[in-house]
Amino acid sequence: MSNCIFCRIIAGEIPAVKIYEDDLVLAFLDISPINFGHTLVIPKEHHESSSTIPEATAGRMFRVGSRIGIALKRKFDYDAFNLHLADGTAAGQVVMHAHLHVVPRGVEDGFRWNWRQLKYGEGEMQEFAEKLSAKLAADLAGESGK
Ligand code: AMP
Ligand code: ZN
Repeated sequence: MSNCIFCRIIAGEIPAVKIYEDDLVLAFLDISPINFGHTLVIPKEHHESSSTIPEATAGRMFRVGSRIGIALKRKFDYDAFNLHLADGTAAGQVVMHAHLHVVPRGVEDGFRWNWRQLKYGEGEMQEFAEKLSAKLAADLAGESGK
């Protein structure tokens, strides 16, 4: 897509500091990192949502992302890493070409995810699970082979 900033990086029209590239994915440094070394792993094919990325490419994204996390720990003395993917504007996705964030973390890095912990009412957890698993099974059945 010509108006997509990440497709333009893949095409070499916009500079990026590359970390890894193969036939399916490209990894490059995030320009505004949470911690230094924060990397983005993207499919070379344009997909807005993670859900349409072919399985082999999605698997490569995850594998490369976690290996980058390990390399960040081993080489730069980080303690851990987060893999983060925002799918949709309400989830915080700003660039509409799917991307996996690899965020290196230190015990004392001063960054916290704004996580909350709700509680289900009586029976709500089971009801939620039944509806969700039935919908997932129906959707996946229509997608076999992709
Ligand atoms: P998200 O909010 O998940 O869509 O994240 C988009 C990320 O892309 C942000 O962390 C930005 O800092 C990063 N970003 C945007 N433009 C560029 C660019 N030209 N090079 C590297 N990272 C970028
Ligand atoms: Zn794109």
